[in-house]
Amino acid sequence: MNVAGGADDGGGCAVPGGSAGIDEPDGAGGSDEPDGAGGSDVLVVWNSDEADAVGVNNESGGAGVAAGAAVGSAVDPLPMVAPPQAATTQSGTSATRRRIGMVNSVAEHRGDRAGFCSWYAAARVVSVSIMSELFNPSVHPHRRRNPLTGDWVVVSPQRTKRPWQGQTDDSVGDVTPSYDPDCYLCPGNERAGGVKNPVYDPTFVFENDFAALLPGSPSPANDADDELFESDTADGSCRVICFSPRHDLTLAKMSADEIAVVVDLWQQQQGELIEQWEWVQLFETRGAISGASNPHPHGQIWSSNFLPNEAQSEIAAQAQYLSRRGTSMLVDYAAREAAAGERTIAINDHWIAVVPYWAYWPFETIVLPRRPVSSIIDLTADESEGLGDVLRTMLGAFDRLFNTSFPYCSGWHSAPRSGADGFQLHAHYYPPLLRSADVAKIPASYEWLANMQRDLTPETAAANLRDVL
Ligand SMILES: [Zn+2]
Ligand SMILES: [Zn+2]
Repeated sequence: MNVAGGADDGGGCAVPGGSAGIDEPDGAGGSDEPDGAGGSDVLVVWNSDEADAVGVNNESGGAGVAAGAAVGSAVDPLPMVAPPQAATTQSGTSATRRRIGMVNSVAEHRGDRAGFCSWYAAARVVSVSIMSELFNPSVHPHRRRNPLTGDWVVVSPQRTKRPWQGQTDDSVGDVTPSYDPDCYLCPGNERAGGVKNPVYDPTFVFENDFAALLPGSPSPANDADDELFESDTADGSCRVICFSPRHDLTLAKMSADEIAVVVDLWQQQQGELIEQWEWVQLFETRGAISGASNPHPHGQIWSSNFLPNEAQSEIAAQAQYLSRRGTSMLVDYAAREAAAGERTIAINDHWIAVVPYWAYWPFETIVLPRRPVSSIIDLTADESEGLGDVLRTMLGAFDRLFNTSFPYCSGWHSAPRSGADGFQLHAHYYPPLLRSADVAKIPASYEWLANMQRDLTPETAAANLRDVL
């Protein structure tokens, strides 16, 4: 960009001969006519270099500007690029006013009313381009909406000016033994209460010895008119599922075929429990920093007679999307992400794993089937194998990112027992790590009090993970 006077600096004089004679209209779209006189030299600058510089001819590539930045729309239910936000609009408006002032001044100076209108219209068209160019999702703060929950996330990429400083922690090397005599999940070992595990292979499921939900729990007395002290029954069951007899064999270290065995177990458990409970929550908590009590590769299943909060939000959002558009939200989303590619970590014929556009956690990931599937129990054998492939790729990248056994909270969302229109199976992965094996993101005061916020963009996070595939 080579604009005389540096018109984009927001404070410099853009007009040869000085800016004193250039008035700014009261508003970017105002009808005020400036009364100043500008130098005719400005006209030359505006028509050639300037028009090119703001991307009118679209050849400059708009350094750093994401393709489609101008097409973000408030009515798009799955916007991939947020519309220009306040900070951008302000700086754009300032530059735009100055330019409109120049153009108006020139036309007025000529005494040509028709010419003035023509120039003014042109200036307004260009001003839109200027603002579009100015918004860069990898540079400017903006908000992104999670269509599954309706929540917004503030993205502040300008706070990551420093180069990528991902640190590795070699001290967290592979020191985990394949068998631990003190592990209550290893084959043959004793659990709480003296129960002994069988010598299982390859997987093992048992009722949680410290269950958070219990079947047949009595209902609390409830006054339907009391809005301040409301309670309800929490009836359910909790199971533990061991993914492998080997104490050290995490999903990330398994082959695709070994992961597919775990997928089969998830399917079998979901199918069995959904017969009895409204919601079945398969999940895995990995790593002490995430709250896992044991490194042995295992997950849990909490089933309940009620729809948890996240389930309620996601069920409602997907049903509303289906009724508005006649298609599945997450099938549409998977197709859009597959086409875009910039947030993709792993993809095959059946699955795609992406850092979602609306991610809150730095390396948050969503794993999606590419055809409509409402529950994990509906996966075909090919899809189970394909899932093993995508998870192996994705989890391997997680581990290599900081050279550590990557911690996360993760789980599957399948349709509830009573069904849900437009519901699409998917898995969420919420890793807490920010920039090293032992530096986690912790929600700060602004986030508890106002709005979730992140610095690293989802696009950069996905690129970092692709770098270590
Ligand atoms: Zn163990
Ligand atoms: Zn979900």
